[in-house]
Amino acid sequence: MVHEILVWPHPVLKQKAQPVAVVDDSIRTLIKDMFESMYAADGVGLAAPQIGVLKNVIVLDTTPRQPESKPLAMVNPEILSLEGKCSYKEGCLSVPGEAEDVERAAVVTARYLDEEGVERTITADGLLAIAIQHETDHLKGVMFVDHISSMKRELIRKRMKKIQSSMAEEVPEKPEKKKGAARSEAR
Ligand SMILES: [Zn+2]
Repeated sequence: MVHEILVWPHPVLKQKAQPVAVVDDSIRTLIKDMFESMYAADGVGLAAPQIGVLKNVIVLDTTPRQPESKPLAMVNPEILSLEGKCSYKEGCLSVPGEAEDVERAAVVTARYLDEEGVERTITADGLLAIAIQHETDHLKGVMFVDHISSMKRELIRKRMKKIQSSMAEEVPEKPEKKKGAARSEAR
């Protein structure tokens, strides 16, 4: 099932996700839904909080850029080591239409549980290394915009507010209490 992806600065995106105790069918369904939501939005990575689920689960697919890689689901991912440095123009499905240079480590080694609950370790470079760092950040409530200058971040925040208000206009608004009437009653 394709889920709606939350747009920053949605408050859920700032919260810390929780570890998964058991990799069961509910987690496998979550992973399936996350892949479907990511592909529907044409992304290379997605973290569970982006669809409103505060669990330590991420999915990645960088095969269009790295044909040797494979689609990857990581439960309770934990970065073991970071090596080197690189800079890459990152985007995020929760910050639509925006991309900024972010400094990251070039090579990442991470430990995680796969869809069967088996512990695995991966060493990645290139886009996959960047995506693993970007998605594990989401589990800590950190966005790529937290890695850029506050000036750029505030400009992006303004553009996101515009997107959100144009989305809200499609939904009929609740009638607001008339402040003027309340004031005249109080007199
Ligand atoms: Zn993201």
